[in-house]
Amino acid sequence: MRNQAILTVLWLLLLTSPARAEAPGEGMEAVWSIITALPGDTVQSLAARFHMEEDALLEANPQVRVVPRPGERLRVFSAIREEERFRMTVRTVPGLRLADLAQRYNLSEDALMRLNGYRTAPRFRGGERVTVYVPRSLWPGNYLDGGIQLQEGTGLLVRRPNNAWGRPVVVRSLEQVGMLMALTHPGTKLVVGDLSRQRGGRFSPHSSHKEGLDVDIGLYRPGVDYDEQYKNLRAEELDLERTWFLVKALIDTGRVHKILLDWNLQAVLYDEAVRTGATDADLARWFQYPNKRWDETGVIRHWRGHRHHIHVRFKEREGEALL
Ligand SMILES: [Zn+2]
Repeated sequence: MRNQAILTVLWLLLLTSPARAEAPGEGMEAVWSIITALPGDTVQSLAARFHMEEDALLEANPQVRVVPRPGERLRVFSAIREEERFRMTVRTVPGLRLADLAQRYNLSEDALMRLNGYRTAPRFRGGERVTVYVPRSLWPGNYLDGGIQLQEGTGLLVRRPNNAWGRPVVVRSLEQVGMLMALTHPGTKLVVGDLSRQRGGRFSPHSSHKEGLDVDIGLYRPGVDYDEQYKNLRAEELDLERTWFLVKALIDTGRVHKILLDWNLQAVLYDEAVRTGATDADLARWFQYPNKRWDETGVIRHWRGHRHHIHVRFKEREGEALL
């Protein structure tokens, strides 16, 4: 428990959602959310659409120039709800009109024209490829859009920068946990393996890591700050204090869906969690162990081959505007 106080203070400092501001007096409550700029959008048009002051929009989005790039993500505080959008290509069928596509994906015809370089509305014969931005609820997933690249930084060693692209929830959480680890365990780093490729998609030898929500992180051995290469560890070779600190810090972000780790290694981490004061309810919530290897309980689950790293699957929390 000795790190509990510093941990609490750190989370307060590190939580990145902007502070709440005045709601623009709509029926619905204003919330922070992430939206996607479409072709033709400007800071002025977006400010008008979301009932924000232009200055407030720019302040919340210091990365944005006067004209946001199509596909660029912006943070807005508004009672107007709009989903984040994902760029993809669709194939037309004979007789389809541009207006149909616009309606299907809730896009303006103007945005579709600009996106595809049409001067006049085309007559589709079927089979043409058209670029659209689909709202999240219509998005099939399986590739990465709106991703950012994890940079090497405080408490972070990135093994393959080209494969370190992820959704902001992953990248920002790793930055925070890296900083926390560096502050509490000087010299220790998170050894970050693959996230996803820049545009995501199939990524051998992984079966997941497709849409920027997964990451592999190395385990610790006693007396070694960190291993740049992953090494298979037996339960008695694990640095329990640091490994459990890492896993607990990840869970404490509230953004972790699942952590995959060999069942035998879970057993010793379980004991470490008990030693540091976990309650029965905590243990049941966090661990699959002592249930069977394939029981679907707990955040931490068994998976073959996870004896030298943990695989962390993140989830995107509703109402958290991370960029
Ligand atoms: Zn993995």
